[in-house]
Amino acid sequence: MSTFYCEYCGTKFPSVINLTSAPCYRHPEGPNKGKHKLYEGSLKSNYTCKYCGQTQSSIANLTAAPCHRHPKGTHKGHHAPSL
Ligand SMILES: [Zn+2]
Ligand SMILES: [Zn+2]
Repeated sequence: MSTFYCEYCGTKFPSVINLTSAPCYRHPEGPNKGKHKLYEGSLKSNYTCKYCGQTQSSIANLTAAPCHRHPKGTHKGHHAPSL
């Protein structure tokens, strides 16, 4: 069985339909302001933030923290996994 992850919050879903039909509490526009977004990168043992290079063992852990090098400004958004 496949597992799909949201790029914003790291929540796991059994299908892309489930993922893209549910609101994301860590959406960049604000909590639940949009749907989860499919993470299209490969699954890894470590995920690196594409803005600052910080590494965490899961997408959920990585995106939980604000990023000091976020393009919208320091701590204006969360870390985002590179693909
Ligand atoms: Zn999400
Ligand atoms: Zn970062």
